[in-house]
Amino acid sequence: LTNFPYSNALVLGLAKSGTAAARLLLQNGVNVRVNDKKSDKQDEEIRELQTMGAEVITGSHPLSVLDGIDLIVKNPGIPYDNPLLIEAEKRRLPVITEIELAGRMVESSIIGITGSNGKTTTTTLVTEMLRRSGQPVEVAGNIGFVASEVAQTLKEDEKMVLELSSFQLMGVQSFKPKIAVLLNIFEAHLDYHKTFENYKNAKSNIFANQDADDFLVYNADDPVVCDAVQKAASQKVPFSLQKRLENGAWADGSNIYFKSEPIASRDAIALVGDHNLENILAAMCVAKLSGATNNGIRQVLSSFTGVKHRTQFVDRINGRLFYNDSKATNILATQKALASFRQPVILLAGGLDRGNEFDELLPYLNYVKGMVLFGETAGKLEKVAEQAGISFVTCAETMNEAVTIAYRQSAEGDVVLLSPACASWDQYRTFEQRGDMFIQAVHTLK
Ligand code: ADP
Repeated sequence: LTNFPYSNALVLGLAKSGTAAARLLLQNGVNVRVNDKKSDKQDEEIRELQTMGAEVITGSHPLSVLDGIDLIVKNPGIPYDNPLLIEAEKRRLPVITEIELAGRMVESSIIGITGSNGKTTTTTLVTEMLRRSGQPVEVAGNIGFVASEVAQTLKEDEKMVLELSSFQLMGVQSFKPKIAVLLNIFEAHLDYHKTFENYKNAKSNIFANQDADDFLVYNADDPVVCDAVQKAASQKVPFSLQKRLENGAWADGSNIYFKSEPIASRDAIALVGDHNLENILAAMCVAKLSGATNNGIRQVLSSFTGVKHRTQFVDRINGRLFYNDSKATNILATQKALASFRQPVILLAGGLDRGNEFDELLPYLNYVKGMVLFGETAGKLEKVAEQAGISFVTCAETMNEAVTIAYRQSAEGDVVLLSPACASWDQYRTFEQRGDMFIQAVHTLK
């Protein structure tokens, strides 16, 4: 850790990122106290931290854990209205997240990506584009690998692509990616951030410390983003689906471009949907700024069929295209998926009933010729299908049954899309399990 001015840190909330942060601080000679509400933390990791010299307090968050502390490293999941954090604010103690520590270690090589939606897809696209161009790169952050841990083993010429949530960005002091990406800002996580302004500010932290040597890739079609980036001191690189840009990425009906250079034909892009085209334009900006080759970029565009469970292409069977969008646990996500297709779709949907109606799907059902419904919301969705005049609507008990019915009903050229618009917990453990069962059912059709 370079220029690290703190000597007594409290790591609040263990889990993967807290444990990594504590370890890193201890290795750098910082005194560490860890505090986790759960008392069943008597595991190997705690013992390891104790052996390294950490003081461990579990079971509750007594205010006394703040005594003698000059820095708090907080797990992103802990809300700021936790009494301990309110007290910390009174004592004017700085509260950061583990991302800040990663930033202190490898500032010059960080590519940071945030947005309300599209983070994982864009992070994956950037990582693959750089790899295919022969550049060494590691991926970390919200995507699953702890940033400060990856940062420790990063080689000198390696870049780190970081997926960043608003929770992680909230605790930023001097964190400064070389290239920042701001994809979009929708209303989200207001339970945590309280106001939209707070949420927007947290997202803006991705570029708040950047200077004129750094780059900020941003969505020129999103008015909230455009407003936020006005404050940025870095070099701005916009992307747009709506207009030609001299200084960024854009698309027309035939190609995608970076500045005036056509980079790839739209026919050669495997990912579906305008939302993914935005992610592609953003990723292409980062790739070009980082010196990726057009060949490397094109290879990814033609082969990358989506992050698992996100409008992911699964297979083509007798001319039918199967897509797994199990991550669509709300109506908005299913709208995005449906808007991605211009051919007849058989939609598999339904799941946990959260009490909402599905009327907002109606304008998106123009290409839907059939629906196979399951779970608690099957009845509600059936009514919407009726309103849309969809003649073929069936209910199914299992995923296998649903896929078999959809296949029988489909014709060559049709899309069979799992995009449930609902959470999975009425029938499955997770949306991942639901998606895996869909993939398995599709493969057994063969
Ligand atoms: P995140 O990591 O931000 O959750 P993902 O890449 O995992 O984003 O995509 C999750 C879902 O968000 C997708 O299935 C799609 O419905 C939607 N989505 C993805 N990219 C965008 C985008 N650029 N704009 C709007 N919605 C998007």
